[in-house]
Amino acid sequence: MTTNIRQRARKQWLGLVLLALVSQGTFVTTSIAQQADNQYIEGAVLWQQASGERRALSYQAFALARMMLDRDLRMNRRIRKPRAVIVDLDETILDNGLNEGMQVRNHVNFNQKDWTEWINRAEATAIPGSVEFLRYAAARGVTVFYITNRNDIQKQGTATNLKKLGFPNVDDQTLLVQTDPKNSSKEPRRQSVGAKYRIVLLMGDDLNDFSEVFEESTTVDSRMAAADRYRDQFGKRFIMLPNATLKAY
Ligand SMILES: [Mg+2]
Repeated sequence: MTTNIRQRARKQWLGLVLLALVSQGTFVTTSIAQQADNQYIEGAVLWQQASGERRALSYQAFALARMMLDRDLRMNRRIRKPRAVIVDLDETILDNGLNEGMQVRNHVNFNQKDWTEWINRAEATAIPGSVEFLRYAAARGVTVFYITNRNDIQKQGTATNLKKLGFPNVDDQTLLVQTDPKNSSKEPRRQSVGAKYRIVLLMGDDLNDFSEVFEESTTVDSRMAAADRYRDQFGKRFIMLPNATLKAY
């Protein structure tokens, strides 16, 4: 197959997937169709939406999380400090594939207005395996903290969505949104959790969900190097979810 034919076939397939989603009536867009530079993301969105492998990787991540949590519960019985698990939301436990698909289909770039409308509809779905793992952790006395860079005006819709999907202990103390529009670092929120809890696991789809070391790494080379430096943490304290749509540095 030539590249052109392959690209055409891929576009047709994506169109079918997206049309199927639209025809389900699950998505209403308010954006005016316009030119956007998001064509590069088309294949990534398709993979997120239609890949059994992505689904399997998600199950794998939460199975590993459960193993590591069980190990900690077994091996560190005498530590009195209460345990916590920290999770990111978007593309870690919440799947926004419908929203991303519509952006590509309508040639609309990411923008806060559409993003807030999507969040307030509370229609994101759960990443496979996420609800089960977090309910398992909560049932064993582990507090789940949801650290997200969604903001204050998006908090209510986010809480509604999380509760609707069955995620445990969602409240003002555990749902920690970004409060300073100029500072997206999650480090102060991680530290506030760490002051009272022993953080057993952190889960995310972005290196910045794990440590300020990654937040400070803002080039491809430095992020590669930081990932190498912290390789021993991955699959143990840091557990990564797959997200092909994440923008490269
Ligand atoms: Mg995320």
